[in-house]
Amino acid sequence: MMQLFMPLNFLGFVYREIRGALANIERMFEILRRQPAVVEQEKPLSTLISKGEISFKNVDFQYDSRAILNQVSLSVPAGSKVAVVGDSGAGKSTLIKLLYRFYDVDNGTITIDGVNINELSLDALRRAIAIVPQDTVLFNRSIYDNILYGQPGASEQEVKEAAELAHLTGFIESLPDKWQTMVGERGLKLSGGEKQRVSIARAILKQAPILVFDEATSSLDSRSEKAILSAIKVAEQGHTSLVVAHRLSTIVDADMIVVLSAGKVVEQGTHDALLSQAGLYARLWSIQNES
Ligand code: ATP
Repeated sequence: MMQLFMPLNFLGFVYREIRGALANIERMFEILRRQPAVVEQEKPLSTLISKGEISFKNVDFQYDSRAILNQVSLSVPAGSKVAVVGDSGAGKSTLIKLLYRFYDVDNGTITIDGVNINELSLDALRRAIAIVPQDTVLFNRSIYDNILYGQPGASEQEVKEAAELAHLTGFIESLPDKWQTMVGERGLKLSGGEKQRVSIARAILKQAPILVFDEATSSLDSRSEKAILSAIKVAEQGHTSLVVAHRLSTIVDADMIVVLSAGKVVEQGTHDALLSQAGLYARLWSIQNES
């Protein structure tokens, strides 16, 4: 019986691998067939962005004829930290997608260091921005390679320094194969907080002038949240940062807080100024502090 079981089991394994590979190939062709959402202009600028000053001016955007952003203007001076807050669905993550040019604005302009992002090459634009997304994608590779992805040419020392700054070293050293431990779908599954710290390490390694942090909606335990917040603080030093925040406690120290409601900027100011206005921000703050 066992003699029959082993080859059958092996055949089953081969079948699943082939089926998985075919599904990946189909997915790849589907992606290749898709029209790119944005196109570079004929002679895009390869300007090196150094300061990272961001400005949105009268930006309108819609998804499938549904208005999402309406005349949004905001600026992030070089080296400062600006936070965007608001109800779920207000359009906060959409701002980031437009800044990274996943989509183009319908009206208005977005500039970085005074250059319209539509005039920049996608490479120059995306090189200037390090994003810590809500959901970090881990590849089926070692945890070392997953961090290296932030800057593929980085040295081992740089990768390890970025991991240290992102508070990951202790965790990695405790893994069975340490830096070579396989993570991702077929490897070790990391918790939400650990994944986000991998993402922060990637962002630190990238050394881009602009850091964008799209805070995860899922709640983390308070130890994890503390580790992430202190990693983010380190990553922000000397950079321009734009933070989409769900937990207002994480952005109390921002130089400017922009409050978005149904795609419009309804308030902006520092934490203290917004609390004294007793508007939407003050209401969101009191709701979060009640629970
Ligand atoms: P949250 O706080 O829940 O993350 P958000 O303020 O970041 O929300 P966005 O993700 O910017 O909100 O979404 C704004 C609106 O755009 C939502 O109503 C959402 O359903 C819609 N939307 C987002 N992505 C798409 C898309 N790819 N196609 C169509 N509609 C979309």
